[in-house]
Amino acid sequence: MSDFNKSRRVFLRTAALGVVAVPLAKVATHVPTAHAEKPKAKDGHALDYVNNGPDSAHAKFQEGHKCANCVFWAGEVSDGWGGCNHPQFSNVLVSAEGWCNTYVPRG
Ligand code: SF4
Repeated sequence: MSDFNKSRRVFLRTAALGVVAVPLAKVATHVPTAHAEKPKAKDGHALDYVNNGPDSAHAKFQEGHKCANCVFWAGEVSDGWGGCNHPQFSNVLVSAEGWCNTYVPRG
């Protein structure tokens, strides 16, 4: 193999790795801050959401059900507010004491 072909192969392999590595690095650095930059949900945001579950007059609400023990809860970000993995709440933080009509208890 000529030196030119060898150099070309090394270059192409390195370039291909770079194409994969850059997007992965971008994802890895943006995930933790994504939740922190979101605004807090307001009552009525979607799915009859309320920031304090016991304030809900919804027939499905039961005492003790709250975002912090829902399967969609993505963990606290700060001061009792955290992420929710349900698509209706992808752009906001929800309260650990909140509730919506899609609540599913964590088993
Ligand atoms: S799905 Fe509803 S109850 Fe569950 S964490 Fe999200 S907002 Fe809270």
